Amino acid sequence: MEGSGAHRSGQDLALRDRIRALERAARPLDPGSTRRKRLRSAVIASSESFLRRIESTKAYQDTDDKGIGLLDHPIQKHGIPIETAIDLLEHDVVRPGGAPASGGYLAYIPGGGLYHAAMGDFLAAVTNKYAGLFFTGPGPVRMENLLVRWVADLVGYPASASGHIASGGSIANLVAITTARDAHGLRGADFPAAVVYLTTQAHHSIDKALHIAGLGEVQVRRIAVDAHYRMRPDALARAIASDRSQGLRPWLIIASAGTTDTGAVDPLDAIATIAERERCWFHVDAAYGGFFLLTDHGREVLVGIERSDSAVLDPHKSLFLPYGAGVLVVREAASLLASQCYTGSYMQDALREPAEISPADVSPELTKHFRALRMWLPLILVGTEPFRAALDEKLLLARYFYREVERLGFEVGPSPELSVVTYRWVPPGADLERANRINEAIIEGVRRDGRVFLSSTMIDGRFTLRLVSLHFRTHLRVIDLALRVLREQASAAGEL
Ligand SMILES: *Cc1c(COP(=O)(O)O)cnc(C)c1O
Repeated sequence: MEGSGAHRSGQDLALRDRIRALERAARPLDPGSTRRKRLRSAVIASSESFLRRIESTKAYQDTDDKGIGLLDHPIQKHGIPIETAIDLLEHDVVRPGGAPASGGYLAYIPGGGLYHAAMGDFLAAVTNKYAGLFFTGPGPVRMENLLVRWVADLVGYPASASGHIASGGSIANLVAITTARDAHGLRGADFPAAVVYLTTQAHHSIDKALHIAGLGEVQVRRIAVDAHYRMRPDALARAIASDRSQGLRPWLIIASAGTTDTGAVDPLDAIATIAERERCWFHVDAAYGGFFLLTDHGREVLVGIERSDSAVLDPHKSLFLPYGAGVLVVREAASLLASQCYTGSYMQDALREPAEISPADVSPELTKHFRALRMWLPLILVGTEPFRAALDEKLLLARYFYREVERLGFEVGPSPELSVVTYRWVPPGADLERANRINEAIIEGVRRDGRVFLSSTMIDGRFTLRLVSLHFRTHLRVIDLALRVLREQASAAGEL
């Protein structure tokens, strides 16, 4: 319509001028190549200086301010230069608290932060490919399904399996539980008689998921554990028999493949036999331990996981990805589809293609981050072998630490099945209360020191220290440093 300007009314022209003025005002949203280069250089410089210092960076930085300076810069009408933003980030965001990208991070369940995954995130954000439906994002959907298939093969599921990459293990557990609910046709009136079986060591995200899934009224049976905090199959079988005799409805068995507290792996094979016999849904929470399946030891310890109905494995734990990735795999795609596939009339163009199952049809998310790229890029670039080697290294580091910390005189928990070690300092003659106080003082001392980051837990009333070797940057020298720090803190705290 250019050229017909002579016939435009003044009103038309005014509208076009206003639109052009807004276009100019919005221009900072789409920087040109020079501005992009300045952004990129500042970001790369900051990330390089971060990585160059990562080995000497404190694994926990105890600061008084705790990043409060961030609040001095509220979001305003006009922006600030990238250099100022990077300064703020480095000082108020990256510095205080834990450093999950550091090999000295041995607390809770350590994270990762593979650089290849960061590159994948960058490309995913720049291209912003849509990953929810095959129709608009055939490539990202094929990539996610390829990765889900790779995880399903690792678990040992048949070709009928499906799943998706969620944001983490909590959400993946929630979808698994919802799927189990629907697969057994549980409706509101059935909830009070339905029974779920797990141990006291199950992750709290399970309780949360039951609540969110509307299952707060189901019966929850905490099955007794053995000396290694693993579910006792005989106790499970007895609990189910007792519930049946009372007219209840055994429904769901949840086993842990690597508990958060102690890294215990429930006897999956024996539990699978009971689940099959009792026609219960069998879910394995392998959020922490799942990718140890890449190792011979892991495959031995996790045997039976292939007989489960669903499993959760967190790539942001044992596959070293940055935070924000949890995989759910379900043995039968049909049960996942039956629970998660919905549509709306505004979706009519996105005809369901039979070529590939779309993540949107097997998960609660519609528009989703192109998460597959951050998992695919590291795997395709380095192959699985370095992952296997790193995981075997973590298993041996845990065994080494277990032996050495006992040599230092600490009382140790069960020998590590995977890579969690529990231990405590008990001076001769100390009663429970005093021992608890001393161990609390030790963990506080370790945190103030900051060179390594350890965490604690309460096991049967005992304040217990934990060390988890899981980070890809955790190596022998880090474990030796942890032993040194513990010796120092124990001798200091022993004087209490
Ligand atoms: C970490 C963890 C979860 C929760 O996963 P998030 O990724 O933190 O949401 C669930 N179960 C176990 C055993 C875990 O270790």
